[in-house]
Amino acid sequence: MAAQSADFQTSLLASDQMQILVVEDERRMADLLERTLNEEGHQVVVSRDGREGFDIARNSPFDVIVLDVMLPGMDGMTVARRLRESKNKTPVLMLTARDSTADIVRGLDSGADDYLVKPFSIDVLLARLRAVSRRGEIPRSACLKVGNVTLDPGSRRVMRGREVLNLTPREYRLLELLMRNAGRAVSRDTILESVWGFETDVTENTVEVFVRALRLKVDTREPKMIHTVRGFGYIMRES
Ligand code: CA
Repeated sequence: MAAQSADFQTSLLASDQMQILVVEDERRMADLLERTLNEEGHQVVVSRDGREGFDIARNSPFDVIVLDVMLPGMDGMTVARRLRESKNKTPVLMLTARDSTADIVRGLDSGADDYLVKPFSIDVLLARLRAVSRRGEIPRSACLKVGNVTLDPGSRRVMRGREVLNLTPREYRLLELLMRNAGRAVSRDTILESVWGFETDVTENTVEVFVRALRLKVDTREPKMIHTVRGFGYIMRES
């Protein structure tokens, strides 16, 4: 590792070496991912079958899993869901050819942390992998509390009063962002950047869809906590 270019050093420092599992049945895509990620200094294991990928993911530790949706053996959504059911918390970046909001929401609900719609640029993939793997680390910060809503970043448990709220990973990030800024308006741009990262195909409408979904879980009773700041974004506060 002595004769690396400055660029390569930078990207390696920024991302650190990761153990990455790629579950992708299209040979060209799998080869491209393996080659590119190797060039970035990562260790890559490739599986071309969903069931096999699931078994590999369950039996060896990875920093991140790149998971295609349409796979032989077991589809990517099922792989992600079963991993989460078996308490496997490895960050999952889902690759999808579908781009309808319903499919994306389904993917995220299945336990994926983020998704990329094919075709995507390798730079975007690398940036997203860095973001997803960072999020995978469990923060050791204190519990957040707004009114009777509590969020524990250690266990990722969210409660309103005595009721445990079941949030998708993305809803959780959205709520965490609003709670960390409690009493301050958070702009849609900030939400897009913090919750969706480097994605370019997300619109303000997507933010609205997710805020609506979050409200259906958090604000089912009075007082409402998540408020719209017209023309700007959202604020979380008790009244
Ligand atoms: Ca496929």
